[in-house]
Amino acid sequence: MSDHEKIRELLALSAADALTRAEEEQVMNHIRTCADCSTEVDRWRLLAAGMRGLPTPQPRPVIVERARAQAAIRLAEEAEHRWQRIVMMGVILFAWATTLISWPVVKLVSGGILGMLDPGLNHAWIAFAIFTTIVWASGGAAAVFLSLQQRRERSLA
Ligand SMILES: [Zn+2]
Repeated sequence: MSDHEKIRELLALSAADALTRAEEEQVMNHIRTCADCSTEVDRWRLLAAGMRGLPTPQPRPVIVERARAQAAIRLAEEAEHRWQRIVMMGVILFAWATTLISWPVVKLVSGGILGMLDPGLNHAWIAFAIFTTIVWASGGAAAVFLSLQQRRERSLA
């Protein structure tokens, strides 16, 4: 392989700054005396400059949009979980308040408030337990209803 042929194979790499210093020196020495290689390396340098001038690849808008949509969904889910916790706390407080406030009324209706102080507490406690269960069950139903309604609103939005 002649010197010319050997150098010719290195010209593209030289234009791309991909040669070792020794190889680069060889190329420079050769193109000083070889018009062909000099012209060739100029062409490669032009091409290399053009390549460097190209914009660096950017993520495609679709991918960026998808990532943003996923982030939005995750944020919405987190907000919903927080909202559900608040609703649950509200339901629990409401259930307790309803139980405590309305119990005397229920007791009054079902046999007089003095019955609460009656020594026969067994009967009263069973009634209280049943009443509490009913209130809490309706509280739970309200929580389910609220979360379903919220999900429907979100899917419409
Ligand atoms: Zn040459």
